Amino acid sequence: MAQGPWGTLGGVTELTMTIGGDAAPTAATFDVVNPATGSPMAAAPDCTSEQLDAAMESAAKAYRDWRTDEGARRDALRAMADVFDASVDDLAPLLTAEQGKPLRDAKREVRGAALWCRYFADLELPREVIQDDERALVEVVRKPLGVVAAITPWNFPVSLASWKVAPALLAGNTMVLKPSPFTPLSSLRIGELLRGVLPPGVLNVVSGGDQLGAWMTSHPVPRKISFTGSVATGKKVAEAAAPDLKRVTLELGGNDPAILLDDIDPEAVVDRVFAAAFANNGQVCSAIKRVYVPEALYGPVVDALADRARAVRVGDGTEEGVDLGPVNNRPQFERVAELVDDAVRGGARAVTGGAPRPGDGYFFEPTILADVSDGTRIVDEEQFGPALPVIAYRDIDDAVERANATHFGLSGSVWSADPERGAEVAARLECGTAWTNTHLVLQPHQPFGGAKWSGLGVENGPWGLLGFTEIQVLFQARA
Ligand code: NAD
Repeated sequence: MAQGPWGTLGGVTELTMTIGGDAAPTAATFDVVNPATGSPMAAAPDCTSEQLDAAMESAAKAYRDWRTDEGARRDALRAMADVFDASVDDLAPLLTAEQGKPLRDAKREVRGAALWCRYFADLELPREVIQDDERALVEVVRKPLGVVAAITPWNFPVSLASWKVAPALLAGNTMVLKPSPFTPLSSLRIGELLRGVLPPGVLNVVSGGDQLGAWMTSHPVPRKISFTGSVATGKKVAEAAAPDLKRVTLELGGNDPAILLDDIDPEAVVDRVFAAAFANNGQVCSAIKRVYVPEALYGPVVDALADRARAVRVGDGTEEGVDLGPVNNRPQFERVAELVDDAVRGGARAVTGGAPRPGDGYFFEPTILADVSDGTRIVDEEQFGPALPVIAYRDIDDAVERANATHFGLSGSVWSADPERGAEVAARLECGTAWTNTHLVLQPHQPFGGAKWSGLGVENGPWGLLGFTEIQVLFQARA
C-alpha cells in the first residue's frame, strides 16, 4: 500500500480539489482503480456544478492582478519548477498507482514538468514594431485571454498538465484544470503543492467525470479551452466552444506510421522502433502505431521486433526492473483485446502476445502482429495499447500513400541508412511532426500538434505560448 504526505492509498486519500487557493472538500467521491490490481485504491472528490462555478469565479478574480506583473509570473514558474523537482518522490508513486507506468517513468514525467516550467519561465512574449515613421507608431503585442479551462487525458496526467499550465500562466491567464477521472490523483496533488506558490485562484484543480469536462466547455467564464484527449471528445469540445467563440487548442489522437526503407539493417533500428511503439505501454498519442516494412525485409523485421517483445518485463509499476505496466483502465484494456482479436480472426498472426495475461490487473502481453494490412481495424484505428501491426509494402510511393490514407495526422517517422533519403520521404507524410531515424522526441521548444483530425493548434515552443494569447495592435498616430 502506497503511503505519502497525501495520505494512504488503499482507502480514501486525503487529496482535495484546489479552489481559490484553498482545499475544497466534496460530499461525493468516485473510485480510482489501480490498474495493476483492477481494484479501487482511492476515492477522488467529485466536483459539483456550484464548485465549478466557484473555481471559474476565483480564476476570473485572480486574473485581474495576475495579468499585470510579468516578472512575478516568471518567478512563480521558476518556483513551480522547484516544487516539481522537490516533489518527485511525492508525485511519482501517486502517478504509478493511478496510471500504471513504472516508477522510474513516473519520476521522469514529474521532472519533465519542472523542465517545462523552467523553459516557459524564460520565454519572451513577442512585441513587434511593424511601423515607426512620421505617420504612426504601430506595435503588435500579445495579451492573455482570461480564464483557461484545461482538460487532460489519463496517459500522461502530469506532463500534459504542465504543457498547459506553464505557458497559459506565463502569458497572464489563470486556469481551471480537470484531469481524467481515471488519473485524478497526481493533478489534485499538484494543486495542493502549488497552493503556497501561486496566488489564490491562479490555478484551480477540480476532479470529476466526463460530465465535468462538458460543464467546463460550456461554462460562460473561460475564454479558452485547452484540451488533450480523443478525437471523438475533441469534436464535442469544439462544438461546445463554438456558440461562445471560445478559443480552442485540441491535441487529439494519432495513428502514427513508421516507414522502414529498404536500406535499413533491422537489428540497427528495431530497438528504437520498438521503444517508440511500446513506450508507456503504447498509450502515447504519438507512439508508433503501425510499421510499414519493405517486402524483402519483412521476415527479419518481424522476428527482431518479436525478440524485443519477448524480452520485455511486464508487471506492477512499483516493482523494480519492470519495463511496462498494465493498460490504464478496463475500457481501454478491453478495446486493445478486441482489436487484437479482430485482427487474428481476420488472418493476422500474433507472433508474440495476442492476449491479456491471466490474473488481476489490466496486463496485456506485448503483441507483434504480422500478416496484417490496411483495412484491418488495428491498422486503421488508434489502438493505444501494447499491440503493434507490421505491414509489408511494395515500394515507397505505396508506403507513403497508405501511411497518409487516414483521418489521423499527428506524427510519423521514416527510417533509413541514408538520413537525407529518409528525410525526403518523411517530408511527404501528412502529419504535425515527421521524424527521420527517431520517433517520439518531444521537447519544450518544439511545437507539437496534429494535422487533420489529430488536432487544432499546437502546444510547446513560442507557437504554443501564442496559443494562450490574443493579438492586440497598438496604433499611435503621429500626424
Ligand atoms: P478522452 O477524450 O476520453 O478524455 C480526455 C478528457 O476529456 C478527460 O479528462 C475526460 O474526462 C474529458 N471529457 C470527456 N468527455 C468530455 C466532454 N464531452 N467535454 C469535455 N471533456 C470531456 O481521452 P482519453 O481516453 O482520456 O485519452 C486518450 C486519447 O487522448 C487518445 O486518443 C490519445 O491519442 C489522446 N492524446 C492526445 C495527445 C496529444 O497531445 N495529441 C496526448 C495524449 C493523449
